Amino acid sequence: MCGIVGYVGPRPAAELLVTGLRRLEYRGYDSAGIATLDGDRVLHRHRTVGEVDNLARKLAAERAPGTTGIAHTRWATHGAPTQRNAHPHFDASGTIAVVHNGIIENYRSIRAFLTEQGIEPASETDTEALAQLIGYLYHDGGNGESGNLLASVRRALHDVRGTFGLVVISRDHPDQLIAARRGSPVLVGVGDGEHVVASDGAAVIEHTRQVVYLDDNELALLTRDGLRASTIDDIPLSKSVSTLEVRLQEIELDGHRHHMSKEIHEQPAALRNTLRGRIDQNEGTVVLGGLADRERELARYQRVILTGCGTAWHAGLIGEYLFEELARVPAEVEYASELRYRNPVIQRNTLGIVLSQSGETADSVAALRELQLKGATTLGIVNVVGSSIARETDSGVYLHVGPEIGVASTKAFTGQVAVLALLAINMGRRRHLSPERTAGLLRQLDEIPAKIERILAMADAIRDLTERYVERENWLYLGRGVNYPVALEGALKLKEISYIHAEGLPAAEMKHGPIALIDRGMPVVVVAPRDHTYDKVVANIEEVKGRAGSIIAIATEGDRHLAELADAIIYVPKTHPLLSPLVTTIPLQLMAYYAALARGHNVDRPRNLAKSVTVE
Ligand code: GLU
Repeated sequence: MCGIVGYVGPRPAAELLVTGLRRLEYRGYDSAGIATLDGDRVLHRHRTVGEVDNLARKLAAERAPGTTGIAHTRWATHGAPTQRNAHPHFDASGTIAVVHNGIIENYRSIRAFLTEQGIEPASETDTEALAQLIGYLYHDGGNGESGNLLASVRRALHDVRGTFGLVVISRDHPDQLIAARRGSPVLVGVGDGEHVVASDGAAVIEHTRQVVYLDDNELALLTRDGLRASTIDDIPLSKSVSTLEVRLQEIELDGHRHHMSKEIHEQPAALRNTLRGRIDQNEGTVVLGGLADRERELARYQRVILTGCGTAWHAGLIGEYLFEELARVPAEVEYASELRYRNPVIQRNTLGIVLSQSGETADSVAALRELQLKGATTLGIVNVVGSSIARETDSGVYLHVGPEIGVASTKAFTGQVAVLALLAINMGRRRHLSPERTAGLLRQLDEIPAKIERILAMADAIRDLTERYVERENWLYLGRGVNYPVALEGALKLKEISYIHAEGLPAAEMKHGPIALIDRGMPVVVVAPRDHTYDKVVANIEEVKGRAGSIIAIATEGDRHLAELADAIIYVPKTHPLLSPLVTTIPLQLMAYYAALARGHNVDRPRNLAKSVTVE
């Protein structure tokens, strides 16, 4: 969450930093700010409320000179999104500036200490307490920190609890950046006579592909030509340089109106990438390079725990059906935010699967560590290569769906489901799935991208249909079996970007309470492909109709019966029932997208949300 960019080099920093912020804006956009350092040893700070565009406009009129600087786009955790709470934050003397992603949990006691020293806060943020503490140690520290910026930063970071990805500059050290991380991502782009620090590779790739990832409790001192990495406690480190694989075109709109619609439409190509090289049709087997020598262990796990947040948690719920049905292994799904505080019982031979698009989701990273502590073997299903979860799990499978910028996740979700299907089939094959049944499933999986193409071709009809219901403030989404998590995901998409209240339910649960909500014309989206629950779902549809609700059915092509029963119908191509979420989800994504458009919302910047939730 939130975007950080820092620059030290020969070029004017401001323009480069603002372009970087634009690339990170999907990570937070309630306010933005920049501080640059010029030869005159003055910190030039500009901050604005709202999107990065506002900051850019301000900078067009005001000066932000210098070739060293830091910038931030905020997703507020402490204090309202106002100008005075926007980053960068200064120390009391205006010597030091800090941009920060994360939460300083003990900021109140730091602030109380500083107040005793006569330093009053200038904002409501936790970040400012850290900036002030660094400044205090730098000016008055006494324990060897005084006058030593690096030592002051180390000491302050030693004293704070919580999470941070941060960059510090000081007018006393005009050619230096200090970057550090604990729990929030930071990477350093290594250019020719320059360094670009960022919370996300998207802000770096137009300058360099060579990057150094900081790990937790690490710090880097950067000058134009120098990168000195160490732990926060000052143990020197030699870091390896990785190459960023992302292409610029992948993070740009490329002719689309929104990232979300681009990403919805990318799904056929994205899933082809997810599946590429992983299905061996001749042998009827799955090949997952990321598991390498651990692949055979899939035969031995006696339990699978899947964990994630939001959309990734929904993918996990689908995984539960896949593992139980195809591999006959007990599987359960847990919210990452709950798992870590629940003291879960982990038996031997448990496989913990952590799902996260960014690989940086704070709750999921914490759940991963809890699983590891208790002896589970862990496997990450993530999209961002080199992210924390990718690096910390015992093995992993990348989604390979390309960067996902849209705040409402779409292609990462279908990518996660496809990877879970590959894993469950692989595990099943090592237990009781026959080569023939495995080959049949893999063939069906291989055909999914083409089927999604057929659904996307109906986008206009889905838009028209959605617009008929868009005035309604309450929607229900129903499904049974593996379609139940699809209903949850459909409802979440609608909530996230159109702000319509929507509930996803197992269809039969409706009669145990929520049916009381149904009144004339209430939109009830029913995910009802032809499978073993179909007849029961049809009965639930009748119950809704009996209360004058409007049925929007997601049905298998050729289903005439539902066409008669439903008020509106969207057909999806037939596939294996366990793989149907990969097709039934697509119309629900499109409906959410068109509902938000019809209501005039900015689809890529939904209110109160941001991509990649790196705070707890
Ligand atoms: N906790 C800090 C604040 O509220 C940083 C938030 C962020 O990551 O954008 O200002």
